[in-house]
Amino acid sequence: MSDDSYFSYYEETINAVQPKVKFEVGLFTKPSSNGRKMELIITDNQLTGIKEKVLNDIRLDADDALMLYKSYDIIGIGHLADFVRRKRHGKKAFFVYNQHLNYTNVCINHCRFCAYSRRKGQPESFTLSIDDVRKKLSDRIAEPITEIHMVGGINPELPFDYYLGLLKTIKEIRPNVTIKAFTAVEIDHLAGISGLSLEDTIHTLKSAGLEMLPGGGAEVLSARVRDKLFPRKIGHERWLEVVSKIHAAGLTSNATMLYGHIETLEERANHFIRLRALQDKTRGFTAFIPLAFHSKNTLMSEIPSTTAFDDLKNIAIARLMLDNFDHIKAYWVMIGEKLAQTALSFGADDLDGTIIEEKITHMAGATSSKGLTRQKIRGMIQAAGWEPVERDSFYNEIIS
Ligand code: SF4
Repeated sequence: MSDDSYFSYYEETINAVQPKVKFEVGLFTKPSSNGRKMELIITDNQLTGIKEKVLNDIRLDADDALMLYKSYDIIGIGHLADFVRRKRHGKKAFFVYNQHLNYTNVCINHCRFCAYSRRKGQPESFTLSIDDVRKKLSDRIAEPITEIHMVGGINPELPFDYYLGLLKTIKEIRPNVTIKAFTAVEIDHLAGISGLSLEDTIHTLKSAGLEMLPGGGAEVLSARVRDKLFPRKIGHERWLEVVSKIHAAGLTSNATMLYGHIETLEERANHFIRLRALQDKTRGFTAFIPLAFHSKNTLMSEIPSTTAFDDLKNIAIARLMLDNFDHIKAYWVMIGEKLAQTALSFGADDLDGTIIEEKITHMAGATSSKGLTRQKIRGMIQAAGWEPVERDSFYNEIIS
């Protein structure tokens, strides 16, 4: 396909999908001399085959992902991801008004990359009582929060009833919020302490108010990485099994990938392939969220921060590889507000949410804000040329 026909296709496709959205010059495009057609900026000729696949809706494979990772043509890769992103969502960029709750940081797993967990009795260890949770929710009852995001460590002293109490308390105080809580690691632990099967544990949690999982816990779906970094935590086969049962129970989840530590590019590519294969079966994933590793205060503090180049390329490659995921998030807590704003032009369509009190990444040295106002997120999106859309957990648009 020539560049001219590529852009005719680009323009026609976007007009077909988003007829009310005016086709505009984007970050990666510029008008050609005739003023209407666009000129593609792509410099790595090795990406030509991938471009053809993307334009013709042909699924990329692990080799394609590796070629993208090894290319320095960040603009060309961004352009391809932007093409896919605009085809799905036009100029919309989503965010949610949410509140984070971390109920305990006591954890027996001691993952090497974790700055958040503490041993029982350590000075900074904490476990919220149900009354503490009630107060945290009540303190912000005047705000139009639509989602509670709740995760914690694996604290063996907490009984199954405590978790049911958390869910019921949230629903009692805020009956209309969506509770997005617990990683697959926590769900596996809860199945271990509930005396129930995995399926019955999930159904019991669902009856108490659980509606969605935030998606973490897998880190990278690789046995090698698990052996080296988090051997006490469930492996990728169990993670995929737990998530598939979550989806089978009618709950949705996100999926994440912690990158920028010891994982190889092949392991990143395989992570995408494994997630995509499960999504083909269950259709239960809502969004994919790349999580940039922050090493401060971890046992791996010698590892430098990820680069902006890698952060953007990783988001773009996620958009290209995960053709059955509706949404790709640029999680501003991990990569900072400014880069998250830029990532909207590299395949991301969602900035996550207001959050207000982020703990986990800030304990690992994140320098981003601990929370954003609705107005600030809207402003970030508009300043980058996108249309801010407040959503609920399931991407229903909220008219405010
Ligand atoms: S990452 Fe999660 S499971 Fe691992 S030590 Fe930290 S809190 Fe525990």
